[in-house]
Amino acid sequence: MAPSPPSFTFPPSSLATTSPTTLTQLLTRIASTNPTLSAAEGTGEAQIAAFLYQWFAEHGVEGHWLEDVTGRPSVVGVVRGIGGGRSLMVNGHVDTVTVKGYVGGGEVGEDDKGGEEGGEEEALGGKLEVRDGKKVVTGRGALDMKSGIAAGMALLLHAKKLREEGRGLKGDVILAAVADEEHLSMGTEELLRNGWRADAAVVTEPTGLGLGTAHKGFVWIEVKTLGRAAHGSMPGLGVDAIEMMGRVLGRVAEWRKRLPVDEILGRASAHCGTIKGGEENSSYPAECTVVVEVRTVPGQGTETVVGEIRGLLEGLAKDDEEFRYEAPKVLFERRPYRIENGHELVKMTQEIARGVLKAEVRPQGVFGWCDASLLGEAGIPSIVLGPNGEGLHGKDEWVEVESIEQTAEILKELAERWCS
Ligand SMILES: [Zn+2]
Repeated sequence: MAPSPPSFTFPPSSLATTSPTTLTQLLTRIASTNPTLSAAEGTGEAQIAAFLYQWFAEHGVEGHWLEDVTGRPSVVGVVRGIGGGRSLMVNGHVDTVTVKGYVGGGEVGEDDKGGEEGGEEEALGGKLEVRDGKKVVTGRGALDMKSGIAAGMALLLHAKKLREEGRGLKGDVILAAVADEEHLSMGTEELLRNGWRADAAVVTEPTGLGLGTAHKGFVWIEVKTLGRAAHGSMPGLGVDAIEMMGRVLGRVAEWRKRLPVDEILGRASAHCGTIKGGEENSSYPAECTVVVEVRTVPGQGTETVVGEIRGLLEGLAKDDEEFRYEAPKVLFERRPYRIENGHELVKMTQEIARGVLKAEVRPQGVFGWCDASLLGEAGIPSIVLGPNGEGLHGKDEWVEVESIEQTAEILKELAERWCS
């Protein structure tokens, strides 16, 4: 049996809302912390997905409920085209990072007590405030990325209105509001597994209204050195696996200076995320494990990266027969993403954004990994473009109101051209 939306009740006035700024406020007030990242207080996406689903129904938008994992739903809203045109998907995640440690309230004053005040109430405030002289919506997820979802909702309303006026777009307009992007992207994976596709997608992650055409990927590689356990007083018997790992780290530090450079994203990077080794102070440790995270650039395959790390280990083993290790293991990987600057979607968005923002807009790299990569792998040309603000994953998060309206405007004009 297909899962059905849970029965949350929302005020009719909320469900009737059409302004993307007010929608940003409403969405921010619904907790949707990712439970895998913050187990203690992670709420999951059930309530926010239910809001979207009911909002779709209220506005005559076709709604779809996806929930392979209980409590981690994604929703899809569709305004069908009249036929014969290309479809456009707006993709955004509804989960947020934790509300713990959220302070809010703008500049930290002298009487700030170190981040205790504010808390959850501020994080879920969704208030209209002023930052740096600009009107903003504040709260956890306001920028990352409920404002981007709200802009997508405004696009659905626009497509609906055009159809009602007899000027319907030829292609479908789709909003995919997905779970779990902040962790493993189970939402977008579920979306694609269920066959959702489009002829283009805009991931409305906050780019400060920049036109994101590339981002790095990442690979987590476990490296383990092997020593020989012995009592600390017996240097002739023991081999120190932690010391061996020290040698590996030295080689990694050298190696990362030679990593490939991408013209938009810069050099690939590598660092250690975690290290574990040793049981007690008075023994030689038998094992030491690190996880090296490599942030990869387009064209840099995981096999190449792992091969290079294996090469470092082989080099160390050649220098010292006591140096032993296990073959490096890939724990998790996400590919980098790149769309050509000459692609029609990029050119078209660039022109539209230039008109809306009255400024030159150039394709740029996006600093983190995002779902554009999964969409791209599924054959959907994608760009990343969303509102402006500050405090992504930080103590005080806000999104500029004007940039929400501008994002919505760019999406509308893009749909009118792309889907016509
Ligand atoms: Zn995000």
